[in-house]
Amino acid sequence: MKVLLVFAHPEQRSLNAALRDVAIKELETQGHEVRVSDLYADSWKPHVDRADFPLLTQDARFIPVAASKDAFAADSLTEDVRAEIEKLLWADILILQFPLWWFSMPAILKGWVDRVFAYGFAYGVGEHSDKRWGDRYGEGTLAGRRAMLIVTAGGWEEHYAARGVNGPIDDLLFPINHGILYYPGYDVLPPFVVYRVDRLDEADFEPIARHLRERMRTLATTPPIPYRQQNGGDYLIPSMQLRPDLGDPGATGVALHVDGGEASRAKRDEVAYG
Ligand code: FAD
Repeated sequence: MKVLLVFAHPEQRSLNAALRDVAIKELETQGHEVRVSDLYADSWKPHVDRADFPLLTQDARFIPVAASKDAFAADSLTEDVRAEIEKLLWADILILQFPLWWFSMPAILKGWVDRVFAYGFAYGVGEHSDKRWGDRYGEGTLAGRRAMLIVTAGGWEEHYAARGVNGPIDDLLFPINHGILYYPGYDVLPPFVVYRVDRLDEADFEPIARHLRERMRTLATTPPIPYRQQNGGDYLIPSMQLRPDLGDPGATGVALHVDGGEASRAKRDEVAYG
């Protein structure tokens, strides 16, 4: 398999860099081809602006969605963005790795998504009508490929449990897993999250590395998060509401969009906390 790892940490001696190296070594040992986009090392430009669209004339009003659509269609996106799109099309598996910063990804990685996930490539794909709302959420350009997150967090695992004060980790990662990865079609694997990392010492590293190696060995076989398919009949079109007969009665929020979400979260917490 071909694996693209997009890495977002500014320090090569960090815990994240050490975990990245463990992942790469294990993948290569398994015979996989690995490419890395190291965003800080590559001085990735994180913000969307006019410079991203060389065809835009100076006096034209800059409308990012329209500019992205036109540039993708005309194959005139900037070279750095085109190189990342080419890597995404090359890879069977995409891994995004980052430290949790303010309950999300570092800005540089969000900027990678903003610039690389272009209109016509990652969104605005497929027929949009009153019968079909595009190819997205399980369908789209990247369908048939797999993606997963490797995340480190300062907070405790309990703080990210179903009743933890930070909110459940699956809910916090939902905008990335569902909104960014599932949206253009990826099957999204459960994330590899390491908690309470700021006080980690060398002795703690090996058990974490062992668990990460195991996840790298099972990339092809780990069942993806069972997000509901937009066009699979679970949603009403065009309101895109979940059918009233699906999900727990009265339930709201992101777990509704996982088939059996409440049950699987409760089960996971049961396993984690006995
Ligand atoms: P490092 O600082 O590089 O290392 C962490 C520890 O691992 C160190 O003690 C190091 O000695 C040890 N270690 C053990 N083995 C190794 C090895 N082989 N190589 C390197 N180090 C090793 N946390 C949250 O939970 N939620 C948040 O919302 C959040 N927001 C944040 C926002 C910002 C702006 C910042 C800076 C931090 C935030 N944090 C948050 C904490 C953050 O998630 C952690 O600081 C981060 O995950 C640590 O990862 P690192 O790679 O930077 O670790």
